[in-house]
Amino acid sequence: MNTENIVIIGSGPAGYTAAIYAARANLQPLLITGFVKGGIPGGQLMTTTFVENYPGFPDGIMGPDLMDLIKAQAIRWGTKLLEDDAQEIDLRTKPFKVKTSIETIETHSIIIATGASANKLGLPNENKYWSKGISACAICDGSTPQFRNEELVVVGGGDSACEEAVYLTKYGSHVHLIVRSDKLKASKAMSDRVTKNPQITIHWENEIIDVDGSDWMEKIKLKNKNTKEKLTITAKGLFYAIGHTPNSELLKDQISLTNNGYIVTEPGRPETSIEGVFAAGDIADSEWRQGITAAGSGCKAALAAEKWLSINGLSSLIERDDVEPAKMKKGVEAQESNEENFKFNGLWQKGSYALRKLYHESSKPLLVIYTSPNCGPCHVLKPQLKRVIKELNGEAQAIEIDIDAEEEIAKQAGINGTPTVQLFQKKELKDQWKGVKQRSDFKKSIEKTLRN
Ligand SMILES: Cc1cc2nc3c(=O)[nH]c(=O)nc-3n(C[C@H](O)[C@H](O)[C@H](O)COP(=O)(O)OP(=O)(O)OC[C@H]3O[C@@H](n4cnc5c(N)ncnc54)[C@H](O)[C@@H]3O)c2cc1C
Repeated sequence: MNTENIVIIGSGPAGYTAAIYAARANLQPLLITGFVKGGIPGGQLMTTTFVENYPGFPDGIMGPDLMDLIKAQAIRWGTKLLEDDAQEIDLRTKPFKVKTSIETIETHSIIIATGASANKLGLPNENKYWSKGISACAICDGSTPQFRNEELVVVGGGDSACEEAVYLTKYGSHVHLIVRSDKLKASKAMSDRVTKNPQITIHWENEIIDVDGSDWMEKIKLKNKNTKEKLTITAKGLFYAIGHTPNSELLKDQISLTNNGYIVTEPGRPETSIEGVFAAGDIADSEWRQGITAAGSGCKAALAAEKWLSINGLSSLIERDDVEPAKMKKGVEAQESNEENFKFNGLWQKGSYALRKLYHESSKPLLVIYTSPNCGPCHVLKPQLKRVIKELNGEAQAIEIDIDAEEEIAKQAGINGTPTVQLFQKKELKDQWKGVKQRSDFKKSIEKTLRN
């Protein structure tokens, strides 16, 4: 088994920035992107719209676009990517061991950049209505048909909650913001956008005690913290924006953590309580938690790891054929299909025209991918599915449907969040997935359909 110089765990701004620095130092880092555990590839910025405060983008940039650029930079300089979760980390042995779903990797040093995951409320009926009214990502799910022109509720009082409340006014008839205290924790600019918006009602000092409904969530029960008065809001959507918990579960009892689960590092530095293990980004930062601070700490972690490997005589450097690696190619988005450009044997097409044609006339397995414009997880999933379709050499086809543009189709298909993927063959629904899943899940199911 080859021992890696550096394994970086996590693909948010901290992980990818660490990868850029380590790769440019000829250490050829291996970056485990994460997949389902603790977030999605690209991290938290994949779940937001405009990032207005990352330096270098005077007009702002969409979170998923920013992460695509940082990722491309890391790949261009030679980072190896493993699209999987780290399932176990063993820091008791040297070299360290990191177990994924398919292999165990040995490495001299590790940079932990696993960030944080969205918190839940733990309501009695939460599981029953999860994805049937309750969502942790307004940006991903807000445009689904069930939420259109309905009353919607956001819970939380910080920047994310305010951003989501404003965003949802685009789709809902009215938005209620449930705030536990008597003030917002969001920035002044963000708070003003909420308090001055006539489409948003703030319920101060209230807590959600449960939700109710039939097949879909219909009611949200509140209790005032002071008066104990109860109130029921009739609403079809409840969006959580109540903070995040650091993804440090894998390191429990192996490394120093704070009471809240953040990794303890040397003040202002990336070194942890274990030599050769470094931490970067939100996982070690309970205070600043920004894209730029995460990227900055990723840089520090890579430089510290490089120095540590060199002092201990552990680095094995690669030789580059070219001093300047080749430029990255830009991906080309599929165009909406119509009568003129539709291809009966096309592998990946877009829109209702292609869907109708292939659904009715093709006998091949047909993957229908329901996406929405600013959905980061859709961004992650699409290239995965394109690879699956390509690997199947024309035996299956795919159609992408933007549910924002094709509301009626989304309604008919019963879509209640994006990304959702449905697998059809000869008009029969064979399988359905919600959220980001491993490539192998889709491939296995399509192959099963082909065998039957
Ligand atoms: C809605 C929202 C809006 C935001 N807007 C802004 C903004 O405008 N500007 C700004 O600067 N900041 C913003 N932030 C904060 C910013 O997103 C975070 O500070 C930043 O993403 C932290 O980066 P990170 O690399 O530490 O971790 P994350 O971005 O959290 O990335 C963590 C990565 O680790 C991976 N991971 C987790 N567990 C494992 C595992 N077991 N194995 C492998 N991988 C794993 C995850 O898949 C993910 O890829 C926003 C956050 C949210 C939620």
